[in-house]
Amino acid sequence: MAKQHIVILTGAGISAESGISTFRDANGLWEGHDIMEVASPQGFATDPALVLDFYNQRRAQLLTVKPNAGHTALVSLEEKYDVTVVTQNVDNLHEEAGSTKVIHLHGELLKARSSADSNAIVDWTEDINIGTLAEDGSQLRPHIVWFGEDVPMISTAVEYASTADIFIIIGTSLQVYPAASLSQYVPLGTPIYLVDPNKPEGLSSHIHFLQGSATEKVPELVGMLMDLTD
Ligand code: NAD
Repeated sequence: MAKQHIVILTGAGISAESGISTFRDANGLWEGHDIMEVASPQGFATDPALVLDFYNQRRAQLLTVKPNAGHTALVSLEEKYDVTVVTQNVDNLHEEAGSTKVIHLHGELLKARSSADSNAIVDWTEDINIGTLAEDGSQLRPHIVWFGEDVPMISTAVEYASTADIFIIIGTSLQVYPAASLSQYVPLGTPIYLVDPNKPEGLSSHIHFLQGSATEKVPELVGMLMDLTD
C-alpha cells in the first residue's frame, strides 16, 4: 500500500530553540532591524552594504547552530510516511537533521544569486560584499525571497499540499503570504495539526492545536502519528 503523504509547513519557531531568533516574537524586528530595511528590494537599493552585512551575519550564525529535537523528530516520520517539508525558513536545519524532501519558499542563506538573473543560483558559505560578483558580472546577492518579490516555489508547495493526507504547521505566525494560505489547498477533511506556544487569534476549530514549543510538542505529535500506522 502507498504510504500516506504528510506535508509540513514550518516557520521560524521550529528553529528558535536552535538559537535562531524568530521575527515577530521580537515586535516585528528581525535581529533589531525593520524588516523592510533588510528584506525588500527597496532596502537593498537604499543601503546594499547594510543588507549584505545583515545576511552575512545570519549566514555566519547558521554555521554555528544545530538542528533541535523538533527538526529531528520530523525525520523519523519518513520511516512510515511520504513526507514533504515546506519551510519559510532560510536556514538549512531540516536538511542538517536529515529530512530528504525540503522546499524553501523564501530562499536559502547558504545560496547566493545574480542580481541580474534570479535563476543563476550558486551554493555559498562565505560573506557577500559589495563587489562580490556573480558569473554574469552583476553584484551577487543573497538567495532570499524579499517582501514584494515572487515566491516561485509556492506552486510546487500548493501541488504537494493538495495531495496531503495529513497537514502539520509548526512555529509560524501565519502572517506572511502566500505561505500562510497553504492549508487552504489541503483536501477537505484532511487532519491539520498546529504546534506553537501561542494560540493564533481566530484559530479554526477543525485544526488540532498543540500548544507548546517545537522540541516538546513535535516529538509528541510524531510519536502519535507513528503509532497510527502500526
Ligand atoms: P514569525 O517570527 O513571524 O513567527 C514565529 C512563530 O513561532 C510564532 O507564532 C511564535 O509563537 C512561534 N514560536 C516561537 N518560539 C517557538 C518554539 N520554541 N517552538 C515553536 N514555535 C515557536 O516567523 P514566520 O511565520 O516563519 O515568518 C518570519 C519570516 O522571516 C519567514 O518568512 C522567514 O523567511 C524569515 N525568518 C527566517 C528565520 C529562519 O530561517 N530560521 C528566522 C527569522 C525569520
